[in-house]
Amino acid sequence: MHFSHLSILPLLLPVVSALNTHRSTLTDCLNAAEVPILLSSSVGWSEAIEPFNLRFSPLPNVVVIPRDEHDVEEAVKCASQSGVKVTIKGGGHSYGAYGLAGAVILDMVEFQEVTLDTTTNIVRVGAGLRLGNLADTLFNLGERALPHGTCASVGVGGHATLGGFGLDSRLWGLLVDTVVQLDVVLPDGSCQSVSATSNPDLFWALRGAGAGFAVVTTFHFQTLAAPPVNINWAYTYTFPTPSTSADGFLFASEWAQQYAPKELGYGIVLSPGSLVLRGVYYGSRADYDCIIEPLLVQMKVLHGGVDPVSSVQELGWIDSLKLLAGGPLVLPPQGDGEHDTFYVKSIATHEASPFSSNAILSFFVYLFNAPVPQNSAWFIIINLYGGPGSVITSFPPSTDPASTSSYAGRDSGYVWQLYGNTPDSTPPFNVAITNYITGMVDALGQEAADLPAYAPYADTSYSQSEAQERYWGAGAPRLREIKSVVDQGGVLYNPQGF
Ligand SMILES: Cc1cc2nc3c(=O)[nH]c(=O)nc-3n(C[C@H](O)[C@H](O)[C@H](O)COP(=O)(O)OP(=O)(O)OC[C@H]3O[C@@H](n4cnc5c(N)ncnc54)[C@H](O)[C@@H]3O)c2cc1C
Repeated sequence: MHFSHLSILPLLLPVVSALNTHRSTLTDCLNAAEVPILLSSSVGWSEAIEPFNLRFSPLPNVVVIPRDEHDVEEAVKCASQSGVKVTIKGGGHSYGAYGLAGAVILDMVEFQEVTLDTTTNIVRVGAGLRLGNLADTLFNLGERALPHGTCASVGVGGHATLGGFGLDSRLWGLLVDTVVQLDVVLPDGSCQSVSATSNPDLFWALRGAGAGFAVVTTFHFQTLAAPPVNINWAYTYTFPTPSTSADGFLFASEWAQQYAPKELGYGIVLSPGSLVLRGVYYGSRADYDCIIEPLLVQMKVLHGGVDPVSSVQELGWIDSLKLLAGGPLVLPPQGDGEHDTFYVKSIATHEASPFSSNAILSFFVYLFNAPVPQNSAWFIIINLYGGPGSVITSFPPSTDPASTSSYAGRDSGYVWQLYGNTPDSTPPFNVAITNYITGMVDALGQEAADLPAYAPYADTSYSQSEAQERYWGAGAPRLREIKSVVDQGGVLYNPQGF
């Protein structure tokens, strides 16, 4: 059947006018509540709706910039009355731009509080903080610290509700593990403080499955003393063939899973032509040298007797974080304006069943031989989550009744992030990159096919049901149940969550 533009117009007009009525009811409600908003005609609109990942072009109806909890309550009530969906924007770094996926965006940028209780060392942190600003302020408040990722512009909002891995996480846990209380606005517009003893179901859901259950306005984190000495280390190897690469990789990954103490943050980074072992040791240089030596000796043998290019630096806490961030920690509240255009897959290996040597060889054969699509770049970061004494894996699984967190990766060995982007970080994105990155996981064979994934590294190719399964596994049914209790109307939206 064919409709000309003219013949379809009468059908569309009622829909368009219904949408406009919706919008004006919503904006009328928000204006009546005196909640600050941006509309598509407002100055600053394009910046407000621009995600970190430029593969996506969100088109919300309105961006709300709440000044306090009361504004959040009003905004949630208006959205609920108008029957439209709300998403929450923290730092805007979701790989799928999920903080900007709703009709109403709650941009938490005004929530910048950092207040340390020097008796308990618990810090109150506004949900609009970025990690770099948080780390810098905490250190200035009494040399306190939290575990979290390396990128200064990532928002605490999405990081502390989904996971939050840093090289210090084997020593201290994920950022989600340091949350002791959350001040939230519920989908019905009411306020609550949730903790292990107050609304424990919601506390469990918010610590791992985040958005979709409540709007976190303030996080309460148990801080730790910043280590005075940090050894930032990296060794770069260039293996000539798939089989020498596989041998080097297998030794490096097995060694760490067996011997790396929890003070040794440890990862393997692959990019065209290089294998880098890198991390941070939270302790003295002498102890570090002693721990790392057996790894270096055997890697040199596997590397044909050639020393790697090495970098080992003894740094204070803030300088260590700056080196990892590759730039300043302190950023404008709105972020540094940096973007990328990319697709990611993640896999979390089970500590008890690492990849076989056949799977790793097949993977390196792919990296050496599969043609890389035009206008694309790639890298892979493989971080150790398990290993001796790791705090990440010391917590009970999310399905244990004693668990206070829905984060599902308590049995992870390594988490792999396979990342493909455009070389200059800007669109257009060549969809062949997605296939190329998917091919990397396929090359690992059946052993990788059903592995879980890490929710903060959202794989946008997953349907909602597959994402729920991969990210939250056996915890997904309980999350569905909690969602049905706290958000019957489905006001809060997370495209891959609940
Ligand atoms: C450059 C870069 C580096 C990264 N490095 C790491 C790393 O080292 N370790 C790691 O674990 N992860 C890392 N990540 C992944 C990062 O943790 C996630 O993308 C995280 O969800 C981003 O949070 P955000 O607030 O910036 O993003 P947003 O897009 O604002 O939010 C992400 C999700 O969280 C929800 N959300 C945000 N704020 C709130 C709130 N207040 N209440 C409830 N829900 C909320 C949003 O609705 C959305 O669904 C990195 C990401 C990028 C882009």
